[in-house]
Amino acid sequence: MILGNICTRNCAFCGVARGKPAPPDPTEPERIAAAARELGLSYVVVTSVTRDDLPDGGSAQFAETIRALKELGAIEGVEVLIPDFKGSPSSLNKVVQAHPTVLNHNLETVPRLYPEIRPQANYRRSLELLGRAKSSAQGLLTKSGLMLGLGEREEEVVAVLEDLRQVGCDFVTLGQYLRPSLGHHPVVRYLTPEEFSHYQDLGQRMGFRGVASGPLVRSSFSAEGLWKSTRVKT
Ligand code: SF4
Repeated sequence: MILGNICTRNCAFCGVARGKPAPPDPTEPERIAAAARELGLSYVVVTSVTRDDLPDGGSAQFAETIRALKELGAIEGVEVLIPDFKGSPSSLNKVVQAHPTVLNHNLETVPRLYPEIRPQANYRRSLELLGRAKSSAQGLLTKSGLMLGLGEREEEVVAVLEDLRQVGCDFVTLGQYLRPSLGHHPVVRYLTPEEFSHYQDLGQRMGFRGVASGPLVRSSFSAEGLWKSTRVKT
């Protein structure tokens, strides 16, 4: 996770600390690359807190980190899980121009629950980001994810999956929401393994290149495996 551990937003499901973050560290991209080299990684997922305090939302730091990782040569794939950059096309473009392997932006929940769950986000804006990313770089794979058990209805989940296919989203993850503390949004429901299997089958039938659906799935769950599983199909 780059750009610090303090977030400028206040999502009801998230355990990350909120407050005033420190300025970006210019040495961070090189240090991330050095860590990946030392660990012998072949696939790296890079994410961040949301930096609404920065004019570019931290997009330049993402771009520099992608470049530093790719310059290592030994990395097969760099996946980025990005914030919405308040919908800024130029910020998104900075990331896209650094050519990540997969660009992930989580929708997290259904639009009806946004005011409660993601009060500073906007469903349409996030969806547009995914569509814009897909159409602005040939070959870029896009990904999104949902937490289930926050009070969404099945038909709402299906509508979100349809929206994602509409904007050409390649991969989707669906996992059970777990409450980080008693101060966070309660778990409204625990889905059964069968329900997750149902979404796995549905997502595949809808044409996603890769679907990961299960109680323990998170957005970076088996990220390399999900990406690799599709390379034989393309
Ligand atoms: S924007 Fe991301 S890191 Fe910040 S509170 Fe929301 S989910 Fe957590």
